[in-house]
Formats: sequence, C-alpha cells, structure tokens
Amino acid sequence: MTDCLFCRIVAGEIPATVVLETPSVLAFRDIHPKAPVHVLVIPKEHYADIAALGAGDTALAGELLAGVAAVAEKEGLLGDGFRVVFNTGESVGQSVFHAHAHVLGGQTYGDL
Ligand code: IMP
Repeated sequence: MTDCLFCRIVAGEIPATVVLETPSVLAFRDIHPKAPVHVLVIPKEHYADIAALGAGDTALAGELLAGVAAVAEKEGLLGDGFRVVFNTGESVGQSVFHAHAHVLGGQTYGDL
C-alpha cells in the first residue's frame, strides 16, 4: 500500500468529492477550501510535483491542464476568472508530494 495520500484517493482507499475524472486525471474538492471554489486536479500517475511531471511526461502535463480547463468550465469560473496554483517544494507550502493544481475561484484576488 502506498503512503501517498493522493495515490490513495486515486485508488479509492480514501474518499473524495470528485468533480471530474478522465482516464489519466482526477479532480476533487480540497478538504480545507481556501476559496468558494477550491478544486485539486491531479495526474493519476504519481509525480512528486509539477516540475517532475513536466520533465517526465509532457503529454500527461497537457492532460492535467485540460483537466484544469474542464474543471473551470464545469464550476462556472470561465466568466469571472480563476487562479491556478502549483505549490512546488516544502519552502513554498507544498504539503502533499503528488503533483496537483489548485483551481481557486469565486472570489477576487490582488496582484501576485
Ligand atoms: P499543497 O499544500 O499545495 O501540497 O496542497 C495540498 C492540499 O491538499 C491542501 O490544500 C489540503 O487542504 C489538501 N488536502 C489534504 N488532504 C486532503 C484530502 O484528503 N482530500 C482533499 N484535499 C486534501
């Protein structure tokens, strides 16, 4: 059994509120939402972060981005806009070391 939390969600061992599923990508609601809409989009295959995914499988990285776009459309975020965050590394706040995009919407943001 893997000790990767998101691999365990992919395997169905830990419940999640799934928003979108494709053969290669899973999207589910963040358990501690930081915006009215807060969805995590992950590759089903394990990569530690977006840097490893981008270096390892560009096709899958593209499928992840297509998943982000599909989630934004499904959650009604395309009109007002949304923010996508890939925390990469412990020093910037990454806590789960399985690549994931945070899709955040339903509120306004200032400059980065
Ligand atoms: P990170 O800090 O960028 O690594 O983001 C990890 C995210 O996973 C955090 O926003 C957590 O709230 C979220 N999270 C942790 N455990 C679960 C879970 O079991 N289901 C859904 N989201 C989770």
